[in-house]
Amino acid sequence: HPGINRIDGKKTAAALRERIAGHVARLKADHGLTPGLAVVIVGEDPASQVYVRNKVKQTGEAGMNSLHFALPADTPEADLLAKIAELNADETVHGILVQLPLPGHIDANKVIDTIDPAKDVDGFHVVNAGRLATGTGGLIPCTPRGCLMLLKQTVGDLSGKRAIIVGRSNIVGKPMAQLLLGENATVTIAHSRTADLADEVARADIVVAAVGRAHLIKGDWIKPGATVIDVGMNRVDAPEKGPGKTRLVGDVDYEAAAAHAGAITPVPGGVGPMTIACLLANTLVAACRQAGLEDPR
Ligand code: NDP
Repeated sequence: HPGINRIDGKKTAAALRERIAGHVARLKADHGLTPGLAVVIVGEDPASQVYVRNKVKQTGEAGMNSLHFALPADTPEADLLAKIAELNADETVHGILVQLPLPGHIDANKVIDTIDPAKDVDGFHVVNAGRLATGTGGLIPCTPRGCLMLLKQTVGDLSGKRAIIVGRSNIVGKPMAQLLLGENATVTIAHSRTADLADEVARADIVVAAVGRAHLIKGDWIKPGATVIDVGMNRVDAPEKGPGKTRLVGDVDYEAAAAHAGAITPVPGGVGPMTIACLLANTLVAACRQAGLEDPR
């Protein structure tokens, strides 16, 4: 039955958002606390605008306060840093997210490291990266956090599993590797200089693809029964939908891989919705910690 091994990220994300909304309602009732998320976007990148719109919308739907700052593309770096400093000092703001990519004249690392680590709901600040690497708490990047939830829900115990992560970015690949290590998987990290990617992938019980190249990972590379998580979001031409039309595809050749995999995430409808739900989860956690309350469970 085709589609039987499809991992439904949309459904899992909806359930997670509902749980978060319940926590938010109780926080309000019991402590008079409303978690607040500030999203800052610089410039007019169309994909970024869609992400930001969804983030703002879902924050509101979960009962949280949502602040949205759209700054012009030519905003000087100093002005952006000043905006972040202002949000760091604002007690009604528990989470700060600066949408990437930033225009070329702004140093993204400098921006990220200006965010108070306690409010860094993307988990990109060096303090949070260091906390993850040393297993000492901190805020965990949303996309890998969402991938891990899907993996645990699908596979159960990850201990001793062979996992390969294709991609080593600071925002997906590296934190994903740390999370899987934390679950006692045996982790391989592949990248553009990996000698025989097909061979590496074929050994893995768990494949996480975070590259940004349409259908780089072929179906017949996948070990029979493996679990495949496709982070990639690649826009490709779709003449079958009409002239000039496009569609989103992952880094994995879905149809071919689904014939081998035990379970696989689709694109769209897999990792994407989990990323936003995990952003809400991080905002909730950040608000609780800033108020001296225990983490919600
Ligand atoms: P980056 O471009 O930062 O990193 C890509 C990684 O892939 C690099 O480590 C690069 O290797 C590696 N790579 C490139 N070409 C190859 C190749 N031929 N073989 C093996 N490895 C290769 O991307 P991100 O991590 O930011 O994002 C990856 C993908 O995930 C993108 O499609 C992005 O849109 C998507 N994404 C989706 C999210 C979601 O919510 N679903 C959230 C974030 C990202 P090297 O280091 O050697 O250059």
